[in-house]
Formats: sequence, C-alpha cells, structure tokens
Amino acid sequence: MSNCKRNLSPNIQNLKSLESKYQSIIKQATEARENAYCPYSNFKVGSAVLCADGSVTAGCNIENSAFPVGICAERCAYSKAISQGKRQFEAVAVVASQKDHFTMPCGACRQFMSEFGNVDVFISRPGHEDVLVTNLNEILPFQFQTTDKTFE
Ligand SMILES: [Zn+2]
Repeated sequence: MSNCKRNLSPNIQNLKSLESKYQSIIKQATEARENAYCPYSNFKVGSAVLCADGSVTAGCNIENSAFPVGICAERCAYSKAISQGKRQFEAVAVVASQKDHFTMPCGACRQFMSEFGNVDVFISRPGHEDVLVTNLNEILPFQFQTTDKTFE
C-alpha cells in the first residue's frame, strides 16, 4: 500500500533576511495578537495582510461564548481590509505562540482568503527568528472556485 502522505519540507527563513515589508506585517501581526479576545482557549493569534496598494490591516482572533461564532485572526484582518474596499492582496502574516509548532491558518481561513487570490504566507512566533514561508496555493491545493460563473 502506498504512503499517501505528502512529503512537505517547509521553507524556513530568518526573519531578518525577509524584505522589510514582510518583516513589517509580521511585526503588526505580533502587535495585533496582543488584542486577541480569547478567554476560552487563551490562545492568542495575530494576523496582518499586506494589500496590493501597500496598506496593511491587522486582526486578532475573537472568541465567543457560542464557540462557532468566533473568528480567526486571518479572517479578522481580511475583513477589515475588504470593508475598506481592498480586494487585492500580496501577503499575509500569522503569529501565534506554540513552542514547537508553527500555527498555520485553519481550513476555513484558507478558503476565505483564497476568494481573493494567491498570497505569500508568513508564519511566525513571538521571540523566534525563524519564519515559515509559503503561499496560499501551496497550503490550499485544488481550491473550490466558481470564478467562471457558467454553471452546468
Ligand atoms: Zn482560521
């Protein structure tokens, strides 16, 4: 029986080696993380999205006593940008603190972000220099799309 598990070797780069605009969104995601409202999980996440026009919006996770109503940091950051009229994005940073793991966007956020095209993705942890660098197409292959609107 074949082993179907994909052999993904993550692209890890040093924070200081990244272009300044990417260092900046990681910093803004780290700062936004401090505003996380997460009394149920105590797991703070921050995110910042670099828009094609060079502007940045940041967000944090916002939990709710009705658990499914909560929102992740990535969708918070994207929603802020979209509500300001932004539709094109270049990169997104996600910052959370797990000692031995990078915190990847959840499946719902991957789908949400994919609506607006591929972006570079930077996953960071406070106090760590290593950054996992990937992109949305890589972490959400075979995306659901209805872009041609010609349903049969
Ligand atoms: Zn999510």
